[in-house]
Amino acid sequence: MSKGLVEVENLKKYYPVTAGLLSRHVADVKAVDGVSFYIMEGETLGLVGESGCGKSSLGRTLLRLEEPTAGRVLYKGSDITRWDKRQLKELRKEAQMIFQDPQSSLDPRMTIGDSIGEALLIHSIGSEKDRLERVEELLKRVGLEPEHAMRYPHELSGGQKQRVGIARALAVTPKLIVADEPVSALDVSVQAQILNLIMDLQRELELAYLFIAHDLAVIGQVSDRIAVMYLGQIIELADRTELFSHPLHPYTEALLSAIPLPDPHQKRERILLQGEVPSPVNPPPGCRFHTRCPRVMKLCRQELPTLKLLEGNHLVSCHLYG
Ligand code: SF4
Repeated sequence: MSKGLVEVENLKKYYPVTAGLLSRHVADVKAVDGVSFYIMEGETLGLVGESGCGKSSLGRTLLRLEEPTAGRVLYKGSDITRWDKRQLKELRKEAQMIFQDPQSSLDPRMTIGDSIGEALLIHSIGSEKDRLERVEELLKRVGLEPEHAMRYPHELSGGQKQRVGIARALAVTPKLIVADEPVSALDVSVQAQILNLIMDLQRELELAYLFIAHDLAVIGQVSDRIAVMYLGQIIELADRTELFSHPLHPYTEALLSAIPLPDPHQKRERILLQGEVPSPVNPPPGCRFHTRCPRVMKLCRQELPTLKLLEGNHLVSCHLYG
């Protein structure tokens, strides 16, 4: 039975490392290493982890902007890892991406109107007049003016450019959006406006999001469920309230301890992790977090824990549990 709009099964994305004059394949960067989850229609799944943990690669591979090394991605029950070019073009109408850097995701030579209308043109949607009307409607919907259609990206602020990025993603009326750090390049004052816009659009258009960010506080504002990623693997996944009130994995505990409490009189002990994130080319044996874990045991250095379902909807990968 289908679990949702998207089901990801044991997905892997490795990037080959080559060396020498003959570019011999010597190793792999294991950016995504056996990840499984689902996203329901109209739901936001937050994906959080430090930079370099593989979350952006996961988002891109899920949409087949990059080819998976192994595993399956089921969209409405059909495995898109086997889809041909024609089918992938259809997928682009249903599943879109919002990028971190709105500046580099817009062509500096194209007007804002042309950038937003590009996807409509590619998919031959509507007449020229229909497309112009749709661009105007989208600009208004994301809080810009119809006049912005004639401007170029360099004439807009960072927040306005990200609004254009959102309008571009919405142009083809998708059901799923992968939002890859959509607010991390913006000023704090603008971040809240863009997050509100993203959430308003979800309610209005019943969108499903995979919302990627390195900041658990941001993820907590928008997500229904949250997946925590470390070195290419999901190490905890739970409903937002459950994760914030009962974090189980020591890595999640450390991430949560860095978020200031709303009441300034209350204090939370900050858990400072020692050491660097190990290389995804050669992850540590056993639990990948054991080199930094404050609760490491002998077993952790020998055996890789698997993601286990505990009470309710709470999954965790740690030898302390189950
Ligand atoms: Fe820490 Fe061991 Fe749990 Fe890994 S398995 S998170 S090292 S306690």
